[in-house]
Amino acid sequence: MKKKRVLVTGGSGFLGSHICERLLGMGREVICVDNFFTGRKDNILHLMDNPFFEIIRHDVTFPLYVEVDEIYNLACPASPIHYQHDPVQTTKTSVHGAINMLGLAKRIRAKIFQASTSEVYGDPEIHPQTEGYWGNVNPIGIRSCYDEGKRCAETLFFDYNRQHDLRIKVGRIFNTYGPRMAMDDGRVVSNFVVQALRGEDITVYGKGEQTRSFCYVDDMVDGIIGFMENTLDDCIGPMNLGNPGEFTILELAKTIIELVGSKSRIVFRELPLDDPMQRKPDITFAKRSMNWEPKVPLRDGLAPTVEYFDNYLKKI
Ligand code: NAD
Ligand code: UDP
Ligand code: UDP
Repeated sequence: MKKKRVLVTGGSGFLGSHICERLLGMGREVICVDNFFTGRKDNILHLMDNPFFEIIRHDVTFPLYVEVDEIYNLACPASPIHYQHDPVQTTKTSVHGAINMLGLAKRIRAKIFQASTSEVYGDPEIHPQTEGYWGNVNPIGIRSCYDEGKRCAETLFFDYNRQHDLRIKVGRIFNTYGPRMAMDDGRVVSNFVVQALRGEDITVYGKGEQTRSFCYVDDMVDGIIGFMENTLDDCIGPMNLGNPGEFTILELAKTIIELVGSKSRIVFRELPLDDPMQRKPDITFAKRSMNWEPKVPLRDGLAPTVEYFDNYLKKI
């Protein structure tokens, strides 16, 4: 039987590299498209010997002509430091990138997944967040390039579905962590783990009372690929994908210090603008549609993450 060929945009990034790896393990042929803005060859080095793995250096804001059966559209910087570095490019990546990937999917009649985000809920007024909630997003703030870019991408996906009968899957990904996160991207798990391993101060922003729900990468990959493979064509989302376990940032800091056995102190720094106060996915829809829920508790997922960064720091 002919192998299914799958395109993964943003395939050399944190999540994308895990998706490429899993798809290859499932016997798929994988094309990884990335402009290497935040992605790293390091993340996919171990896949390069596989003859069914191909890399194309390409920016998704420009048209792309390939022939595939399925598309996972993950290209977009995801951490505040990186997406705020060139905010205009961030919006272009989400919006022009979505238009190009949807145009591609339309031409070849491919099924397409969009990596949307819990950020579409902004600083949410309802808790936990259900897919029916429209969100509380500042359209002109420093996070808007990412939030509004992703919201517009969702609009495009749903319009291509209605207008062109395209098979779409829109997943709203909540904070995900694990090996291959970039150590310099400022996200909370990588920051705290690296600080704890180096014995540096742990920088908690604000009072650390804001909450997040952290999903281990293997669970997220199960969720994303399960959505594409195991749900009916009329199940298009948006679908929350995340771990409903909710922790304050201060709790996270203390847990990481304890797990690492670190002497680091906790210090408090100014809370960034528009930083959401709480976030927790309602995953009833994902459970019902594909019998999926995360299996890895925070401590169990932090252990391999700490090990990854420990090895990484020894290499650099
Ligand atoms: P990441 O920064 O590690 O990966 C993003 C990848 O996209 C990188 O490899 C980067 O080089 C590539 N990229 C960026 N702009 C591009 C462009 N114009 N053309 C081609 N490639 C481009 O981030 P990640 O955490 O792996 O996130 C992957 C996707 O999942 C993103 O779309 C992100 O918005 C979404 N997401 C992630 C999380 C999370 O917690 N990790 C949460 C919500 C949503
Ligand atoms: N596109 C692409 N690859 C393809 C087909 C289309 O990158 O294989 C891009 C193309 O640049 C176009 C966009 O997708 O601008 C949207 O395509 P669509 O067919 O929806 O719109 P149109 O071409 O009519 O603008
Ligand atoms: N945060 C923190 N210290 C850090 C990095 C982040 O206290 O060194 C906080 C940040 O203010 C936010 C939470 O941790 O409240 C999650 O931040 P991250 O950038 O990982 O994700 P996002 O805000 O996009 O959910």
